[in-house]
Amino acid sequence: MADRPRPKLLITDLDNTLWDWFDAWYQSFSGMLEELCELSGVEQDVLERQIRAVHQARGTTEYSNLVNEVPALVAAAAPDAPAVAFNEALHVLNSRRKSVTKLYPGVRESLASLKNAGVRVVAYTESGAFWTEWRMRHTGLDGVIDVLYSAPDHDLPDGMRPEDLRTGHLPPSAYGLKVTKHHHVPRGVYKPSEDVLRSILEDQGCQPSEAVYVGDSLMKDIAMARATGVLDVHAAYGQVQKRPEYGLLQRVSNWPDEDVERERALARDSAAIIPTISCAERFDEVLSVFDVALASAQ
Ligand SMILES: [Mg+2]
Repeated sequence: MADRPRPKLLITDLDNTLWDWFDAWYQSFSGMLEELCELSGVEQDVLERQIRAVHQARGTTEYSNLVNEVPALVAAAAPDAPAVAFNEALHVLNSRRKSVTKLYPGVRESLASLKNAGVRVVAYTESGAFWTEWRMRHTGLDGVIDVLYSAPDHDLPDGMRPEDLRTGHLPPSAYGLKVTKHHHVPRGVYKPSEDVLRSILEDQGCQPSEAVYVGDSLMKDIAMARATGVLDVHAAYGQVQKRPEYGLLQRVSNWPDEDVERERALARDSAAIIPTISCAERFDEVLSVFDVALASAQ
């Protein structure tokens, strides 16, 4: 970028920008759903409707106590709790999440190259704290990202903590991030609201012109960056809204109906929001904006 000095801050989205969140969600959730139908005898469309109601009440699509709060599963499992009666389904969910969650090619090397060049790297995600920290640890990004800004965790039943719901009985020291600083953004503020992005810039002591924002969602990430005056880079390789499997997420997600409809309309007419710069195939295409070369993988 000849007309501007090298930006000193990269603000990156996480899900479907650094890793394929959707694929991991779809593989794990659809596997669990299939098992739940078989084990409980409840029809899939009944389960999908009741799951969406729980997700909407809890404000997340990654709700760890989900099966225990779906009325049809509670009835089918009685007198046991659904998580006990249908434990096999939760096993499928957890094991697939673990095996499918991984960084896109080139992400680790690109982030290392940027940091070597003195660029600070922070992340901003709408996903909740607990599962975002899990993905950061699982993909080895603890310490690679300088600061993580995420949504706080969703509500759990009184007295229950997210780690209480995990299988495997790991000690408390196995949770959280060791190096990356983690700040929570205010509850109920969603992209493309400019408020959080502005407060991240302020927190980092950066002007909009000194930062670059990369994300996969035209409706959320790109619209937000453009409105804030931060150079917007579209992670086009991470777009999933046109995949047929995306319908399952829309049917069970906590998103309001109008957001689902807006996203459907945008998927039909993606020219409605034109990004300034686009990474067509890989994350490392973002390096050219910083005039940084990709260091070879160690
Ligand atoms: Mg994303």
